[in-house]
Amino acid sequence: MALDHRLSPEHEELRRTVEEFAHDVVAPKIGEFYERHEFPYEIVRQMGSMGLFGLPFSEEYGGMGGDYLALCLALEELARVDSSVAITLEAGVSLGAMPLYLYGTEEQKRTWLPRLCAGEMLGAFGLTEPGFGSDAGGTRTTAIRDEATGEWVINGTKSFITNSGTDITGLVTVTAVTGRKDDGAPRISTLIVPSGTPGFTVAPAYSKVGWNASDTHELSFADVRVPEANLLGEEGRGYAQFLRILDEGRIAISALATGLAQGCVDESVEYANTRTAFGKPIGANQAIQFKLADMEMRAHTSRIAWRDAASRLLVGEPFKKQAALAKLYSSESAVTNAREATQIHGGYGFMNEYPVARMWRDAKILEIGEGTSEVQRMLIARELGVGG
Ligand SMILES: Cc1cc2nc3c(=O)[nH]c(=O)nc-3n(C[C@H](O)[C@H](O)[C@H](O)COP(=O)(O)OP(=O)(O)OC[C@H]3O[C@@H](n4cnc5c(N)ncnc54)[C@H](O)[C@@H]3O)c2cc1C
Repeated sequence: MALDHRLSPEHEELRRTVEEFAHDVVAPKIGEFYERHEFPYEIVRQMGSMGLFGLPFSEEYGGMGGDYLALCLALEELARVDSSVAITLEAGVSLGAMPLYLYGTEEQKRTWLPRLCAGEMLGAFGLTEPGFGSDAGGTRTTAIRDEATGEWVINGTKSFITNSGTDITGLVTVTAVTGRKDDGAPRISTLIVPSGTPGFTVAPAYSKVGWNASDTHELSFADVRVPEANLLGEEGRGYAQFLRILDEGRIAISALATGLAQGCVDESVEYANTRTAFGKPIGANQAIQFKLADMEMRAHTSRIAWRDAASRLLVGEPFKKQAALAKLYSSESAVTNAREATQIHGGYGFMNEYPVARMWRDAKILEIGEGTSEVQRMLIARELGVGG
């Protein structure tokens, strides 16, 4: 059978719908939210009405009955215009709702997923701690079972948690040490903590370099009690669960990075054709043309890389290495394209009113979040069988 990289008519229709939404609704408004460091509730509400938060989930839980490819296509199109709304969708679906979908009991799914799929409620994923990011298995947060009541009592702090403090945040899934194995290694489990649970505090929003219209907070847990039924998946399986969630999430971040890389091309081609210097469009210079050709090459190759990883995920093949390759390549491409796009825009590229300035500020985190570039290289080397 011939290798066919083209999208199905359904996927192409979704891609085009999100492209139009990003162009017509997000692009004209998002700069002001970004400048004010404000969460764009109305845009997120519209994304919810379009079904974007339910894309990869089955209809019985309020989802759209699509797949992970559909989610990634939507992320790429949103990020071509703006990364704050894209990361809000990525974190809401891939980190917020997906753990419930994959590991939740029937009751947990019925309780949470319909509102998460509708975008009426956002979920957050609390893994990173002040002292543990890349080596998140070192988590210090604890959840001790109160034998008298059966409740879990949670203590600890989580850092940099996306979507954790909006008016519509409904829950955060938190990894915590729930015991020790015979060899002394921690048993890590995941617990669902509803917003507003006594002892659960959301710190004021961080002041960030980029993603300024997205929501990020530190969370603290002081003797937070949740019912026994809020354990997500098996006790002691939390580490394996979050590794799977992060593997998938890397494909989504790669799609988002591809969108940013492509957005830099879109903006720069238009600018190169209209801005004149020395009596001709700057795009008439081969130095600018070559920059644009290289930027397009990076965006295109990034797209092929994330789609390859996604296609393996969809058919149930191993995809860990392909996801790491895609995330590493596309995030570094996004950073390079954003730097080149700013250069092509000259002084205007340093002005916040130009989308490329926002893209420049938003690109760097892609080399850090959901596994740094060094972590991706470690994963790829391990898959190659180097270093044990
Ligand atoms: C805006 C934002 C949103 C985020 N959202 C979430 C979220 O929703 N949920 C969540 O749980 N987390 C979230 N994070 C956290 C993010 O995933 C972590 O910041 C990231 O995993 C890196 O962890 P760290 O910051 O602790 O860096 P560290 O792990 O301390 O790493 C510091 C540096 O050392 C390098 N390094 C570490 N170990 C090695 C090694 N063995 N070899 C070589 N180099 C190494 C790293 O690559 C990095 O360059 C978010 C972060 C940000 C900034």
